[in-house]
Amino acid sequence: MIYVLRLGHRKGRDLRISTHCGLVARAFGADAIIYTGDYDKKMMESVKDVADRWGGNFKVFYEKQWKKFLSSFEGKIIHLTMYGLPVDAVINNIREIRGDKVIVIGGEKVPAELYKMADYNIAIGKQPHSEVAALAVFLDKLFKGDELNKDFENAKIKVIPQEKGKKVVEVNRYKSKQS
Ligand code: SAM
Repeated sequence: MIYVLRLGHRKGRDLRISTHCGLVARAFGADAIIYTGDYDKKMMESVKDVADRWGGNFKVFYEKQWKKFLSSFEGKIIHLTMYGLPVDAVINNIREIRGDKVIVIGGEKVPAELYKMADYNIAIGKQPHSEVAALAVFLDKLFKGDELNKDFENAKIKVIPQEKGKKVVEVNRYKSKQS
C-alpha cells in the first residue's frame, strides 16, 4: 500500500489545496490519503465523492496524531521536502522497497522532528513550490509514468479522450454526456 499523509490541514484556508492533494494522490497511483490537522468532513467527502464516481479503491482517512501514527507505521516513511536528497538519486531504491510506504507532504509549517523520523527526505528540485506538485512528480517518477494509463475499476463515469471538446460516458449504461 502507498499512503499519502497530508500534514496540518487548516479548515477553510486549505480547502482547495488539501482536496487537490487527495485527487493527485488517487490519480497518480497512491492507495489512500490520511489528513492531519483540522478535521474537515466536507473536504474529505469531496475527495471520496470523486473516488466513488471515477472508480478505484482509493481511501480517505483522518488521523489526529500524526506523530503517533508515523511512530507505529510498519513501513517506510518518505518525506517530500526541498531540503532532502535529489529524487533522481534515490528513486530506484524507493522502488525496490517491499511493503507499505507513507509519503508525507507538508503544509505551511513542517515540524522539525519529521526530518528525523523519516527514512527518506526527498527533494523534487531545490526550489520551494507546492505539496501538490511535489506529490505528483514523486508518484510519476515512482511509477515511471505508467499510472497515467491506468483504468480505474468500478468507475461510474470515464473520459473518452477527444482531440477537441469533452466526452464523459457512464460506464455501465454507455450513456454519453457531451459538450
Ligand atoms: N516552509 C515549509 C517547510 O518547512 O518545509 C515548506 C512549505 S511548502 C509550501 C509545503 C510542502 O510542499 C512541503 O512541506 C513539501 O512537502 C512540499 N514541497 C515544496 N517544495 C518542495 C520541493 N522542492 N521538493 C519536495 N517537496 C516540496
